[in-house]
This record gives sequence, structure tokens and C-alpha cells, in this order.
Amino acid sequence: MIRGKQIYEGKAKKLFETDDPELVIVSYKDDATAFNGQKKGTIEAKGEINNRMSNLLMKMLEEKGIRTHFVRELNSSETLVKKLSIIPLEVIVRNITAGSFSSRFGVEEGIVFDSPTIEFSYKNDALGDPLINSYHVAALKLATSEEIAAVKDTAFRVNSELKSFWAERGVTLVDFKLEFGRLADGTVVLADEISPDTCRLWASATKKKLDKDRFRRDLSGVAEAYREIMSRLERSRS
Ligand code: ADP
Ligand code: UDP
Repeated sequence: MIRGKQIYEGKAKKLFETDDPELVIVSYKDDATAFNGQKKGTIEAKGEINNRMSNLLMKMLEEKGIRTHFVRELNSSETLVKKLSIIPLEVIVRNITAGSFSSRFGVEEGIVFDSPTIEFSYKNDALGDPLINSYHVAALKLATSEEIAAVKDTAFRVNSELKSFWAERGVTLVDFKLEFGRLADGTVVLADEISPDTCRLWASATKKKLDKDRFRRDLSGVAEAYREIMSRLERSRS
């Protein structure tokens, strides 16, 4: 697979063209940002960990019948994926209160919901990724109501698969962000990444944060936490 010109550089990844117009290469960086880019830094080996973890999780989801953009891992930090037209939404599923849910509604972190919640943010850095509801999504023609229904259904299925996957490894899935996109034929599939950058993952026994919240909140041991969550995932595969 020939790596062509760079099409995009985001905060955590770069995208490259390939010789196949339907495929792109995602290249993961060690760069980390938080608070809409206001806090910047790097996390040692993050690119490789996120690449590998996201690929393993997407493969697991494919085996459960959930369609994703994943094609093939090319090397430790690069993966071949299907080129999608991204639906500009951050789809956030929560099992436990944390982060912006806690601050927005004035509730402490760590309260377990009876059933998961879902919310959308409009992916727009200039506007600060504002919350948006299904009616706004349809009104702005960001997605059709059929697509929104498919996105919600898939997001909850992803949640139940990821929740049990991590529970088997002694990890609690608190919340996470997904993105979706359309293939050329209009089929909506799971895109982007599933990693400690995009999920809150707590060690079940100690509630230790094993995700990007360590970076956001200036906690110690950021790179160690990324390595620990990856080793928990790898260890239980053998
Ligand atoms: P950001 O754009 O928020 O800074 P990243 O650095 O993670 O985020 O950049 C990756 C970009 O690639 C995101 O904008 C994401 O929506 C987009 N993307 C993810 N998967 C695909 C795909 N399969 N096809 C096209 N674009 C994708
Ligand atoms: N998230 C993400 N990208 C974003 C915003 C949130 O991956 O731009 C993830 C975040 O890692 C967490 C979940 O979505 O797992 C919910 O985040 P929240 O809304 O609580 O926002 P935050 O506290 O990160 O501002």
C-alpha cells in the first residue's frame, strides 16, 4: 500500500491518501490536547498504544457484527481504513457520571446509571463542539433521521460489547466518544478510534483512572496508565 499525500492533520492523528481512492491511512501521534486544544502536550508511546488498542477493539466489534472502518494494521502507529464521509458528531455514551456530565448537571463523579445515556456534540472546534440534539442534527442536515437512529442503535451495541470486554479485564467503562461516517454507498459505519483518549476507563478494584483524564487533570503517571490499560488488554488475549 503506497502512502500518498497528507490530506489532514488533526490534534491526535494524520490522514494520508493511498493509491486506492476508497482507502486512507491513519497515522497516530503522541500529541495530546484537552479543553478544545487549550492544553497541549505529548504522551510517550500514545500513538502506538491507541493504534493497537483501537484496532483490536474494532476487530472485536466486527466479530460481533458491528461494521467499522478498520481494514488492516500497517505498522505500530499506522492503519489502513475505509475512507468515509464523517458525520460531524461526537456520539457520547455514558454508564457512570463523570466529566462534562458531572459539571453540567452538578452531580458527583462515579454514580452508576440504571441504563446508559447518549448525547451528541456538533464536531466544530470553532464553536467548541456544542451539545446538539437529534432535531438540530436533522434541521442542520448533518444526518438523516434514519442515520441518527442507526447511530444511536450501534452506539448502544458498542457500549454493551465494550463494557463486558473491559469488565472481563477488571476495567470499568465509564463513558466514551464514537464517530461515524458514510461509505460511498451511504452505509453508516463506525469510524475514528476507540482508545484511552476517547474512553474513560477505571481499574474496577481501585477506581484508578487509566485514560486521558490523567493528562486533562494533571495527575501523575499518564504514560504509565496508557501502558497499564494496554497490558491489561493484551495480557488477557493470550
Ligand atoms: P481532530 O480532527 O478532532 O483533531 P484527530 O486528530 O483524531 O481529531 O483527526 C482524525 C480525523 O480523521 C478526525 O477529524 C476524524 O473525524 C477523521 N476520520 C476518522 N476516521 C476516518 C475515516 N475512516 N475516513 C475519513 N476521516 C476519518
Ligand atoms: N471525548 C472525546 N473527545 C472529545 C470530548 C469527549 O473523546 O472531544 C470523550 C472523553 O474522553 C470521555 C467522553 O467522551 O470519555 C465524555 O467526555 P465529556 O463529555 O465528559 O467531556 P470532557 O470531560 O472530556 O470535557
